[in-house]
Amino acid sequence: MIARTLTTNSEEETRHEAAQLAADLAPGTVLLVSGDLGAGKTAFVRGLAAGLGIDPDEVTSPTFTLVHEYRGGRLPLVHVDLYRLDRVELDEIGLDPDLAEGGVVAIEWPERLTRAIPRAIRIHIRDTGGDVREMEIA
Ligand code: ADP
Ligand code: MG
Repeated sequence: MIARTLTTNSEEETRHEAAQLAADLAPGTVLLVSGDLGAGKTAFVRGLAAGLGIDPDEVTSPTFTLVHEYRGGRLPLVHVDLYRLDRVELDEIGLDPDLAEGGVVAIEWPERLTRAIPRAIRIHIRDTGGDVREMEIA
């Protein structure tokens, strides 16, 4: 994975970029998707779903559920949103380790994690005004 910065000008473009990225992901990949509220993290995860062959409209911002699993695509997608938590370890939230190994795990609000995840891909999204978003992928 080569570090790069992307700029998108619409939610559709963000989804498209994420879908492109999803095509290359290997089973067991963890993506840490950070950025302020409304930056486009969930939009990005919808794009990942689309790229994996999962209906992106199924991906929602979980209100109480921290972990959502979506199957039926090339790889299962696990969507984790830690917004409502303070500090947490990944094994505290019932993330199925087998699924995590065989699928793609996308985590919103990864700042809440107390322990670093080795070899994770970091995506930071910044709202730079209007519909423009700057995305750093590392
Ligand atoms: P988050 O999960 O980071 O809180 P969401 O993905 O739920 O954010 O919401 C992002 C909002 O910003 C949506 O309303 C979306 O339509 C809007 N938006 C505007 N421009 C973009 C863009 N370039 N990329 C992603 N979302 C965008
Ligand atoms: Mg979100």
